Amino acid sequence: MNQEKNLTEIKEILIKRGNELLNEKKVDLVRFTDNIESDKLMNDFENTPHAYVLACVMDRQIKAERAWQIPYRISTLIGSFKFSDLQKLSLDKLKEYFNNNSLHRFNETMAENFYETIQLIHKKYDGDAVNIWKDNPKSATIVRRFLEFKGIGIKIATMATNILARDFKIPMQDHLCIDISPDVQVRRVFWRIGFIDKDSNNDELIYCARELYPGYPGIFDLSAWEIGRNWCRPKNPQCEKCYLNNNCQKNLE
Ligand code: SF4
Repeated sequence: MNQEKNLTEIKEILIKRGNELLNEKKVDLVRFTDNIESDKLMNDFENTPHAYVLACVMDRQIKAERAWQIPYRISTLIGSFKFSDLQKLSLDKLKEYFNNNSLHRFNETMAENFYETIQLIHKKYDGDAVNIWKDNPKSATIVRRFLEFKGIGIKIATMATNILARDFKIPMQDHLCIDISPDVQVRRVFWRIGFIDKDSNNDELIYCARELYPGYPGIFDLSAWEIGRNWCRPKNPQCEKCYLNNNCQKNLE
């Protein structure tokens, strides 16, 4: 079997797995961290959908596990995470919380971004973050809306939109603008199976996924990540257990 045929087959296998994940029933609790109370706050789109947006804003230059718990840690400090209570927080008070509790690596900046996020949700979305993604918008609309929050770049905006589509099953008109997230596991798997070169940059990875599946480039996110986490480890990959074994180029060190 030639190389091109192998790559086409791998692409189809990964798309099939991505669609399976997309079409799975929504789980009761989407997990972001090891802290169940924090994840409950993040999943409660009825009462605290702003927690999800604030966690995305915090997800910068620190481990995701730590960033995604910041809304919960603030909630324990003020005893509530109701939007009306967050609105009462001054920027100085938020800076105090961030600095005194070392919530982030960049406490001053992230306190400001946290504050600005609350102001924008109030001003533009009537205090209800669900308005960012409700009423079946285009994926481009959701990505653009996330980009309006201070501190959110294209990587987090597309990741946030992908989690809404895939895990929270939020209806959208299309998935065209949901790119793959250039995660370390995804990059390793894409290189080993032969989609990209070892020294390809993030843009090449993103465009490779767009080329492979323009209708939903982010479809590869979780399927490739799962393979990277389960079998395609940096050292001693367990190819005999991996379902791409028959087609993979196995570009190993
Ligand atoms: S077959 Fe091996 S090298 Fe290829 S993706 Fe699977 S684990 Fe990685």
